[in-house]
Amino acid sequence: MPAELVCFDPACRARYPVTQAIYTCERCGGLLETAYAWPADVSAWPALWRQRRTHNAAIDQSGVWRYREVIPFLDGEEPLVTLREGNTPLLPAPRAASYAGLDALSFKHQGFNPTGSFKDNGMTCGVAQALRLGMQRVACVSTGNTSASMAAYASAAGLEPLIFIPYGNIAYGKLAQALEYGARTFQVEANFDQILALVRKLAERLGIYLLNSINPFRIEGQKTIMVEMLDQRDWRVPDWVVLPGGNLGNTSAFGKGLRELLALGLIGRLPRLAVIQAEGAAPFYDLMRQSAPGALRAVEHPETLATAIKIGDPVSWPKARQEVDASGGVVERVSEQEIADAKAVIGQCGIGCEPASAATLAGIRKLVAAGTMRPDADVVAVLTGHVLKDPDYIYRYHTGQLEAPDGTRLAGAFANQPLVAPHDAERLAAMIG
Ligand SMILES: *Cc1c(COP(=O)(O)O)cnc(C)c1O
Repeated sequence: MPAELVCFDPACRARYPVTQAIYTCERCGGLLETAYAWPADVSAWPALWRQRRTHNAAIDQSGVWRYREVIPFLDGEEPLVTLREGNTPLLPAPRAASYAGLDALSFKHQGFNPTGSFKDNGMTCGVAQALRLGMQRVACVSTGNTSASMAAYASAAGLEPLIFIPYGNIAYGKLAQALEYGARTFQVEANFDQILALVRKLAERLGIYLLNSINPFRIEGQKTIMVEMLDQRDWRVPDWVVLPGGNLGNTSAFGKGLRELLALGLIGRLPRLAVIQAEGAAPFYDLMRQSAPGALRAVEHPETLATAIKIGDPVSWPKARQEVDASGGVVERVSEQEIADAKAVIGQCGIGCEPASAATLAGIRKLVAAGTMRPDADVVAVLTGHVLKDPDYIYRYHTGQLEAPDGTRLAGAFANQPLVAPHDAERLAAMIG
């Protein structure tokens, strides 16, 4: 099935072969997306996908490649590497639902992925593309979940993972996985944009394939999160899909995937997308609140403890705007306190997630209170990362030591303090009650 890369800008729409190693449009600098010539009748796909769940072949066990008919950018012969990504559960969470004012709520928990975030759904596709292009090395400029995921998939594929980060800006906690998975890490004496320009200059010469957030093949893999969710719901479309917004790659991916499913006739309507940002890093919220259409104005110093969405200049905003508009969606923003409390409530459900993911529940609570979301709405919220990604945050919250970036102490409304107990059975029994 022929696949192409197409410039996303409607005024340009330049086309490129899918085998060309480019990251942005050569004519206008715009974002690229994959485009396919779809078959006329796809009605057999859902049964085929369901059947593959019982197979032992790696490609069928993957919760991304099981749905390969909707991401047909490979010719079918190329090698690919799977760590059995996807396959993430849809978990009902009554306690979180009542906290938000909803009758029911379920979480699609992408933290159950091999490296603990949805980045794995995209990375298996990005690395497959790197292999098909004959690259030996892959790189990203990031210290977060992208690095962890890229390092794992590149090493598993026998490629060399390279991570570039600004010197002096290192957060070892976030890098631990990347180091363990064998990535070479360079701390460059320059800022993020300068490093990206540098790496792009070296990419061709050194056989490096870039797996940053604009990579269109990562977006393809992330589309399957929506396909898997609908498969798990027997194709019943929810009213809302709620997700946190950082660089807005996931918003773009969900929107594209859902629109394609609608065009293929596999669903009869689109769910509305609700994108939640942190107050200190909410340029997309600001953009969508403007009455006149304009360009996104970057937040120069983004601030939030939810580091995965601490992004002031999200690259995928033009795509995300189209997807929110197409779905009749909304963008909301939430405070540090709201994120922290929502996160503790998700923990109390026995589920847990990293801070950025909890923005979803905080946002739902606001949208229900404002009357935007009805209490009886059918809502799926996507938890993007695993609870153990940021244990320091958790300990501080529960011991009353969590501080917002501006220095204000965040109240641990749902704090669960560890207690010091005497070495005495009677007194301990009295404490337990
Ligand atoms: C990357 C990431 C996000 C942000 O996703 P975007 O696609 O950049 O909007 C949110 N949560 C977690 C845990 C992430 O790793």
